[in-house]
Amino acid sequence: MNAEVAADLLVELNADQTRLLAVTFIDNSGIARVKGVPLDRLAEVAQWGVGFSPVADVYLLDDGFTESPSAGGPVGDLRLLPDLGELARLPAQPGWAWAPADRVAQSGVPHPQCHRHVLREQCRRLAAHGWRASMAFELEWMLSIGDGDEFIPATTGPAYGMTRMVELSDYCVELAGALDAQGLHVQQLHPEYAAGQFEVSVAAAEPLAAADHSVLARQTIRAVGQRHGMRTTFAPSVTTDGVGNGMHLHFSMWDGPRNLAADGDGPFGMTTQWSSFLAGVLDRLPEMLAVTAPSVASYMRLQPGHWSAPFQCWGPENREAALRIVPGASGQWTVAANAEVKTVDATASPYLVAAVVIAAGLDGVERELTLPPPVEVDPGSLDAAARESLGIERLPTNLAVATDRFTRSDVLRAALGEHLHETLVAVRRAEMATFADADDAGIVDGTRWRH
Ligand code: GLU
Ligand code: MG
Repeated sequence: MNAEVAADLLVELNADQTRLLAVTFIDNSGIARVKGVPLDRLAEVAQWGVGFSPVADVYLLDDGFTESPSAGGPVGDLRLLPDLGELARLPAQPGWAWAPADRVAQSGVPHPQCHRHVLREQCRRLAAHGWRASMAFELEWMLSIGDGDEFIPATTGPAYGMTRMVELSDYCVELAGALDAQGLHVQQLHPEYAAGQFEVSVAAAEPLAAADHSVLARQTIRAVGQRHGMRTTFAPSVTTDGVGNGMHLHFSMWDGPRNLAADGDGPFGMTTQWSSFLAGVLDRLPEMLAVTAPSVASYMRLQPGHWSAPFQCWGPENREAALRIVPGASGQWTVAANAEVKTVDATASPYLVAAVVIAAGLDGVERELTLPPPVEVDPGSLDAAARESLGIERLPTNLAVATDRFTRSDVLRAALGEHLHETLVAVRRAEMATFADADDAGIVDGTRWRH
């Protein structure tokens, strides 16, 4: 099947001078690793994949590696099998196309630590309930002038300011055009709060495609920036103070044409199933954090007052609640209503973020959980006693605590599989050791240009 698709694609790709295919996967440190293959090998690679050592499971963000009981060492091989259904040309890298990889054993069976495989399994569980999810990752990044390691904001204009759009007018047009040409339909592109910060939202898709799109969009954003003499960082913390970059996940759940977020009798039109699903996500947010905010630097972003929402609570349009309900404009709510997990950044694997959200949500459904009352104030403005009376917890404030919660999570261990779960723990611990002696500036410098 892949071979036939490859033959048709090859004709098109040759016609527009595409020469190389970048085949990527996201490793357990959140970095996209790649093999490039010439297009005349497309049919062969589509069928048999291209080799990559499984030691990638224990790579760290600084290119060191660790080991876990199920990963590490120089022996063995896996095949990166490009998913040609997601193949896209890279307009900002003329001559290149891209496809996300499934990682499979040489026998062809899925590698248990393949993130796309793990997400597919969770989508199957949703489908067994008769549901499907729709998701979109919101991307934030900061632009730095030139190619140096120091961060020098590439715009001087104010937050959300039109001045910034004028300063980077051609960049914005080229970027929107490149994303649209890849089938990522841009919904919004705007300057964000921090110096040199921008954000894009693309149309929602089914979870696997949404995760793929976030990988492709980041590749494209980086390449367009480079063509304009700028460096792009998606790091959660780019400087030691100020707000960081999030990669919030928006999601809704559908039963046929019914948006379960909007077609019920509960508050904000929630159905019982959706409310239980959200209650499950809310309950597991601390356990999920080592997946959704997985780097040491992630916790410099997760500060009160940064709209990164480090509090375990939910609320309608509450940008300091880790789980924000987005009902949508009144005339649109049956299609637009969704929820947003804000405690996500771009050092996370989008595939695993989607997978743990589904797993936590389904656990809520299975336990028939109900949501506590919504929080409609800034939890950071409340004193500890007031927060306690409302049942609002501060989420783990560092990766050590988050990893500990994750290590003890049976639900996430089951969802990710024993091997991936233990390998993620090993990678988190090794990255903590990497930065054990670093101050904030060292953590930021060591993370800024990696993902
Ligand atoms: N930059 C904020 C973050 O780190 C998000 C701002 C917003 O989009 O609400 O999550
Ligand atoms: Mg934003």
